[in-house]
Amino acid sequence: DTDTSLIEALSLSAGYGSRPVVRDLDLEVRPGEVVALLGPNGAGKTTTLRALSGSLAPMGGEVRWLGETGRAPLHRRAREGLAYVGERAVFTRLDTADNLRVGRVRTQQALELFPELERRLSTGAGMLSGGEQQMLSLARALCRAPKLLLADELSLGLAPLVVDRLLRAVREAADRGLGALLVEQHVRKVLDIADRVYVLHRGRVTMTGTPAELRGNLDAIESSYLAQA
Ligand code: ATP
Repeated sequence: DTDTSLIEALSLSAGYGSRPVVRDLDLEVRPGEVVALLGPNGAGKTTTLRALSGSLAPMGGEVRWLGETGRAPLHRRAREGLAYVGERAVFTRLDTADNLRVGRVRTQQALELFPELERRLSTGAGMLSGGEQQMLSLARALCRAPKLLLADELSLGLAPLVVDRLLRAVREAADRGLGALLVEQHVRKVLDIADRVYVLHRGRVTMTGTPAELRGNLDAIESSYLAQA
């Protein structure tokens, strides 16, 4: 039942200037579920996340956050439990421990999530590997106990084992009640942890369902990626 949606897009159109990039999008994320948003480059995935987060105004339709329609700035939605993780958001001149402190996250809590960060606490975040930086970004987001995580290519450019590690952390947080919407290029990996999937193509949802339902179409989904990449 839709009463339990954390966030909902209803016939949402969004874009830049007068040109909609995303058209008539219907999508929802509920507590406890990991939802994957897939599609080739330029399909409108980032635009969708921006419109959901409140950083981009809808051109049509609506976004409902916690049951309420209306645009609220991202910082207000952030206070209400919406976490957005995009490009690795770390302060490169601060060490790992200070990055956590600035994010108002307790070190102990972050280390429970990613014990691998312990030996890096006094290392400048600029010296961390890409994977460690993303663990730090994700720790900062997840340790504030958000209701919803919107993540744009969490695993961009990272080694497969690190990708698994990050996705597992998201899955475990969802098992404790988080709702997550993940834009991911690692189609097969994200399907392993997702409850539901939306495939976006040229700004429209062309497929939706559970990973099991979509598995037969995986080759088509992946070749559409390649065709447009
Ligand atoms: P990618 O993985 O390449 O980022 P995407 O599915 O996230 O793809 P979007 O980033 O949402 O796609 O971009 C969709 C379309 O919107 C593209 O044609 C892009 O050129 C256009 N676009 C994105 N950002 C802007 C902007 N700030 N101003 C104008 N057009 C934009």
